[in-house]
Amino acid sequence: MLSLEMENFAYLLASVLFIIGLKGLAHPRTAVRGNRLAAVGMLIATVVTLLIANMEYQYIIIGVAIGTVIGAVSAMKVKMTAMPEMVGLFNGFGGGASVLVAGAALIASLMHAAGHEADMQMKIATVASGIVGSITFFGSYVAFGKLAEFLAVKWKLHTWQKVIKYGFSLIMILLGLWFGYVEGWGPVPIGVTVSAFLIALLLWNKKDRFPGMNIMKIIFGIASVVLAVMVVMHPENLNLFWLMVGVAGVVGVLLTFSIGGADMPVVIALLNSYSGIAAAATGFVIDNNVLIISGSLVGASGIILTRIMCKAMNRSLTNVLFGVMGPTSETPDADEVYKTVKSTSAEELAIMLETAQRVVIVPGYGMAVSQAQYAVRDLTNLLTSKGIEVEFAIHPVAGRMPGHMNVLLAEANIPYDQLKEMDEINPTMQTVDVAIVLGANDVVNPVARTDPKSPIAGMPIIDVDKARTSVVIKRSLSPGFAGIPNPLFAAENNLMYFGDGKKAILDLIAAIKESS
Ligand code: NAP
Repeated sequence: MLSLEMENFAYLLASVLFIIGLKGLAHPRTAVRGNRLAAVGMLIATVVTLLIANMEYQYIIIGVAIGTVIGAVSAMKVKMTAMPEMVGLFNGFGGGASVLVAGAALIASLMHAAGHEADMQMKIATVASGIVGSITFFGSYVAFGKLAEFLAVKWKLHTWQKVIKYGFSLIMILLGLWFGYVEGWGPVPIGVTVSAFLIALLLWNKKDRFPGMNIMKIIFGIASVVLAVMVVMHPENLNLFWLMVGVAGVVGVLLTFSIGGADMPVVIALLNSYSGIAAAATGFVIDNNVLIISGSLVGASGIILTRIMCKAMNRSLTNVLFGVMGPTSETPDADEVYKTVKSTSAEELAIMLETAQRVVIVPGYGMAVSQAQYAVRDLTNLLTSKGIEVEFAIHPVAGRMPGHMNVLLAEANIPYDQLKEMDEINPTMQTVDVAIVLGANDVVNPVARTDPKSPIAGMPIIDVDKARTSVVIKRSLSPGFAGIPNPLFAAENNLMYFGDGKKAILDLIAAIKESS
């Protein structure tokens, strides 16, 4: 239907749109346009691929309809704080799709279908797609389950959590049994059944670490590489491919299971990169240029994002993947640190703001939890109308995902030029009259600068302690993600304004209006 030139031109156009779209995503002002351009690119790539493929379209239409409903409903319903687990789950679908396409291409090559000859490129790409795709699929499911708090937890689960947790394990067991039965219980099919059982069993575990886990990771990692070589040498033995996929699935579960829930956003960025690598490998399997390019773009951007997040926390990727984040025996006692904490009220803060000329708001995870962004916008407008200069100091890892604060503030239509990056605002912090810390904790903890033994040592922070006065809004003195006390709360020039983020800001607005 389409000439080769037209096909290549359309794919080139789609790839250019992906790249321009990705560039647009780098800034909130151009992000929506960037997203639309990339979506148009994807539409062109999909339509062209469907036109050149000789296929039965009814299945495609059913698939598109189901996918559209699931995608649209979940994107509209998901809460901002649950975005990392949704992204995690969708990465997993990408990995799973790559495995299935590679498997289907291998079957087509065995059936000598035209264009599916198993040459060396196709064989190597197929095993890469199978291994990386399977690690991504199972790893992403674990990331989703840990963030949604139904995997590796000891407490009682809600009914929906039980349905997903035990339902998934049950499906794995049934698939394993079905495979062994259909393929006649030879050594390789039994291997597939065993790996499916193992995945089901591991997912059942209530603890995220157990003795021998690291040895298991090494053994299964080596086994999947050995199996990959065997598949390249004997592509006609399809069961070997599924065994490799099963063993890589065990690796995916083991690698992600021990990672703490709060480190999951970094792992999700990494898995996102893996899903791109798997898609690029699948592009080589089916000889599709646009899939190779788009997969590479996802793979590269995921890695860059992972690096940015690790750098902003001053941690290595190895530390995120294999280390434990949290207080140590050297962490000072909270009661000791908080001996001189002073608290304030909305009324007192309103009076203080009356004389301020420059106010900086530092949002953190608590702003996302309390959904205080609209109240913050109203406070900003009120203060600006009184001639006070208001800016926002944005830490790159404030919240629980990259850009978390930017997205929330953009949602509330806070002008982008009021959002200042950490490096831009820090040198001017001494001239800030009041710094309002809204639900942030670790990203303003001065021990990152002063205590080399602290788990956040060396992490760049927003220097709120250098402002003339700082006010921290949070519900209690409980720690943030790193689990350590914050001496800022007890500093001479700091006041604690205890309460839920949104309510505290609304009360403050009322107090300012009342006092004027
Ligand atoms: P944080 O250190 O986790 O502290 C958040 C604070 O919000 C808590 O101390 C909590 O105190 C408060 N809070 C919770 N609910 C609240 C509510 N309804 N109203 C008011 N306050 C509320 O958060 P952060 O300063 O934003 O730092 C982010 C942390 O996550 C960093 O350690 C970073 O390394 C880590 N991290 C971030 C990313 C990322 O991509 N952004 C990825 C991985 C890890 P109360 O319970 O007392 O209210």
